Amino acid sequence: MDKIVRQFLQEVESRNQNEPEFMQAVTEVAETVIPYIVQHEIYYGQNILLRMVEPERVVSFRVPWIDDKEEIQVNRGYRIEMNSAIGPYKGGLRFHPSVNLSVLKFLAFEQVFKNSLTTLPMGGGKGGSDFNPKGKTDTEVMRFCQSFMTELFRHIGPNRDVPAGDIGVGSREIGYLFGQYKRLKNEFTGVLTGKGVSWGGSLIRPEATGYGVVYFTEEMLRHKGDGLKGKKVVISGSGNVAQYAAEKCLHLGATVLTMSDSSGFIHDPEGIDEAKLAYIMKLKNVQRGRIATYVEQYPNATFHAQKTPWGVPCDVALPCATQNELNGNDAKALVKNGCTCVGEGANMPSTPEAIEVFHKSKINYAPGKASNAGGVAVSGLEMAQNSLRYSWTREEVDAKLKGIMIDIHKSCLKYGDEAGFVNYVKGANIAGFVKVADAMLAQGVV
Ligand code: NDP
Repeated sequence: MDKIVRQFLQEVESRNQNEPEFMQAVTEVAETVIPYIVQHEIYYGQNILLRMVEPERVVSFRVPWIDDKEEIQVNRGYRIEMNSAIGPYKGGLRFHPSVNLSVLKFLAFEQVFKNSLTTLPMGGGKGGSDFNPKGKTDTEVMRFCQSFMTELFRHIGPNRDVPAGDIGVGSREIGYLFGQYKRLKNEFTGVLTGKGVSWGGSLIRPEATGYGVVYFTEEMLRHKGDGLKGKKVVISGSGNVAQYAAEKCLHLGATVLTMSDSSGFIHDPEGIDEAKLAYIMKLKNVQRGRIATYVEQYPNATFHAQKTPWGVPCDVALPCATQNELNGNDAKALVKNGCTCVGEGANMPSTPEAIEVFHKSKINYAPGKASNAGGVAVSGLEMAQNSLRYSWTREEVDAKLKGIMIDIHKSCLKYGDEAGFVNYVKGANIAGFVKVADAMLAQGVV
């Protein structure tokens, strides 16, 4: 088996050189899915995984724009249309200086499995730019978004490819992108998700990824006869996903000890309560400030510059910032300090070494493609509401989100239960694979 996996990975690597993040995501899938393919005649010999790792289409384009000093700037834009076997391409846009082909291909590949797990009819895609919104004025961000959409609009559409937000793309950016699409096409359609509620957005979409991570984490604990109530939780990030993960932890009676940004983390031993979380939301979403400022407001907390929060003793860890933010040593520290459950809010935040530590220690560990699927699930519900020209209530959307997260947990159990220990990586990869592979087989070699 190892030989088949190795040969497959060598072939993929020879075509995708210098793309470490993409190879990391493909390796994790190959190691769990190839043994399943070998045991199932309908997939074996169809080169199905080899077809899945090749994007259906990659678009790369120039994004010129003029800054406030009237200087011309140039960024690079991308859209990876990875797989449309079960529905239109669907996946976020990321604006961050670290964006490159490798990062977007890993995200698009993960998205295919994640979207399949939601049970909704969505293919997988991802896009973005190396543009850094940090430190830019609103008018600069608007001019950039307009230029970005002036090229992207030809490749997307409500039945073709429906982008959403991701790191650096929040409600402000979605607004500017949607406005420019509408102007260019002279059409009001559900071409983007994460829209404002008064112009086609869904209630609960901003909360969905963070709430979904916590619903999934609660489900992992419930499966072991436990729950989040009274648990100490360590969270990284302080953006969209982290904020609403923290909020839902508080609703369920847990104590949130940390949050972070790219400059370091804050540790509040008394817990980040609802008032403190409201302060963080205003600091990050309105003032666009740094997390370090928290300790000026709440002096009993401490700030740890350029550090991640994984050394803080906790029961549950929710990495919600970015890829590869939790390494093997961090995982060892978490396990040593008593952590028994890790739910990924970010995409691929744990390195392969960290995952190995979690698996060897037999603690609950959920990969992002399962535990953070709530965001894209509610995006799917936003598309459904746009098609119906109707809006569901907050309670209706929240109940559907919770139901979807519980169903994803069941899918993981179906394929990942190993005599009592649940291997959520294996469960999520195989469950996500089967639906897409069946659709690809039915549609022929296209
Ligand atoms: P935001 O831009 O709202 O927040 C990102 C947070 O992560 C910020 O606190 C940011 O700090 C921090 N961060 C970003 N890059 C780094 C880095 N290199 N090192 C340390 N910290 C970093 O993004 P989201 O909350 O939307 O996304 C967070 C993660 O969740 C990403 O992995 C994303 O792909 C994933 N995700 C998001 C979904 C969504 O619906 N938004 C859906 C599913 C997954 P700073 O402000 O300093 O940059």
